[in-house]
Amino acid sequence: MAAVTSRRALTRLSAAARPRGGAPFATRRDAPLRWVSSSAKDSPARDPRLFCVVGSGPAGMYAADRLLTHYGAAARVDILDKSPVPFGLVRSGVAPDHASTKSVTNRFEKVLNDPRARFFGNAALGRDVSVDDLAPRYHAVVLAYGAAGDRTLDVPGEDTLLGALSARRFVGWFNGDPEAHGDDPSDFLARRGDEEGAPSLHDEIARCLTNTETKTMDVSKHGPRRSAVIFGLGNVALDCARILLRDPKDLRATDICAAALATLERSAVEHVALVGRRGVAQAAFSPKELRELLDLPDVDVRVYDDAVAEADAADLEASRPRRRAREAIEKRKARGKGLRESVRSRKELSVRFLRSPKALVARDDDATRLGSVVLEVNELAGPPGSRRARGTGATETIRDVALALRSVGYKAKPLEEASRDTRDTSVTLKQQRVPFDATRGIVPNAFGRVTGAGNRRVPGLYVAGWLKRGPKGIIGDNLIDAEETIGALIEDDAQGLLRKPDAVFENSGVAPVLAARDTRVVSKEGWARIDAEERRRGAEAGKPREKLTSVSEMLRVANERG
Ligand code: NAP
Repeated sequence: MAAVTSRRALTRLSAAARPRGGAPFATRRDAPLRWVSSSAKDSPARDPRLFCVVGSGPAGMYAADRLLTHYGAAARVDILDKSPVPFGLVRSGVAPDHASTKSVTNRFEKVLNDPRARFFGNAALGRDVSVDDLAPRYHAVVLAYGAAGDRTLDVPGEDTLLGALSARRFVGWFNGDPEAHGDDPSDFLARRGDEEGAPSLHDEIARCLTNTETKTMDVSKHGPRRSAVIFGLGNVALDCARILLRDPKDLRATDICAAALATLERSAVEHVALVGRRGVAQAAFSPKELRELLDLPDVDVRVYDDAVAEADAADLEASRPRRRAREAIEKRKARGKGLRESVRSRKELSVRFLRSPKALVARDDDATRLGSVVLEVNELAGPPGSRRARGTGATETIRDVALALRSVGYKAKPLEEASRDTRDTSVTLKQQRVPFDATRGIVPNAFGRVTGAGNRRVPGLYVAGWLKRGPKGIIGDNLIDAEETIGALIEDDAQGLLRKPDAVFENSGVAPVLAARDTRVVSKEGWARIDAEERRRGAEAGKPREKLTSVSEMLRVANERG
């Protein structure tokens, strides 16, 4: 149970614990928050199955879909999300110029609009509700809140210098995530120890990308260019590089956030260095995405140290995507060879294999801001299949660096970290009872069944997606993943291993808890209003949608009555 620090909060929590009289599905503020209305009489309501899915990204939506499909009329699925708007990384992670990848939201919309499903946006596990709130109200809870943190490089400067940030935040920025743009107080500010009035992430990125006063910059036609450096050779790194290098006018008809586009249009960055600690035979990116980057018009490409040593040939041989990625690099290099050195393109990409960051260094004229990046040249050691980077001691420096993005993977956070976000200071949510394997960055599980001490399963608790298997894989992988988790849940149900919701709650799920805590929940109808408003603004600008970038505006639009 949540720890409570005031009498007022105690009263509210105990009210939340009691079902309200009258309609069990309605919250105080938002009557449309119902599971079923007229269709209730058609369902085998004598034996309903109540599920809560935490997270409305691909993992959560596929899990909800599977539950609805399997349990048919008996299914009741509550979908919670910390964000006021659904679909997680499909909305805030997929690059705006990859519109076809986002079409999966058509399927997710159907799930959300199913009368057996309810959506509770702006309701965070760990902030607004605890696992102890959910457990007695559902047959099972499926955790699918993904990986909201990032791996670090552990080099000097990465946490302190303006202009050094994670690719996850940069992606959130160009995708209009309120954490970067709006009034959603982010842990980004906390990271720097800043208080009110501190610049937003957008302000920081805009300042870094568009700043032109620098002493080291050589403005001669063939001098060095202003750089952005990206560490990591995965698909997220490619997304970031592409957005920085692409002609911004090619992004105008996408759903890129307007403020980010305006910044990119004024960007002084002309060179992007993609830096990988290992070689081409070990790179994580996909050949299709790599080709897309290498083929950007008006961008020169340089490649450093892509030779494949004999010892690496087996790594290359073992992976068709890597072989194809290497072929794409070879082809691009061959295409560039005929060009005259004196004619240079608008922008430049350099792909630098076998290099690790050694230090991020401040500018000479501003100790708070990134100025250059020192790299150490690596060699590879170890047997095929587990070749490791080892520093040679040789270093090189990239100067005039405006932005350094670490794109070395996402990382799930233990649930208790989220509880720092508590908005109501009179309530302190205790450490949550969700096991967490900090080394692997996952909730420990057996085929999606959450396991605790001694590998014992935690009854009624399941996990799906990146939180279950780590931050790997494309959106479609979550379908297979959800099949496995929900398959385990169904099996447990058949064996009578699911909990029964406490009768006292009258199958009302989480709604009364959130209502009692005055959580400003966004229902599916609220999301429909936000969606319509974003599409309307988008149509005016000739794009599919213009995303709302502040939580308070989302809440206002969600609650407008038409
Ligand atoms: P990722 O694919 O795991 O790539 C991470 C990269 O970071 C690797 O090159 C890794 O190199 C490197 N790295 C890790 N630790 C490092 C360190 N300490 N120093 C230097 N480099 C380090 O991660 P991601 O790019 O974040 O992508 C996550 C998942 O989303 C992937 O499965 C990706 O395919 C998927 N995704 C797909 C698309 C798409 O299909 N278009 C777009 C975005 C994301 P090592 O190999 O040496 O560890």
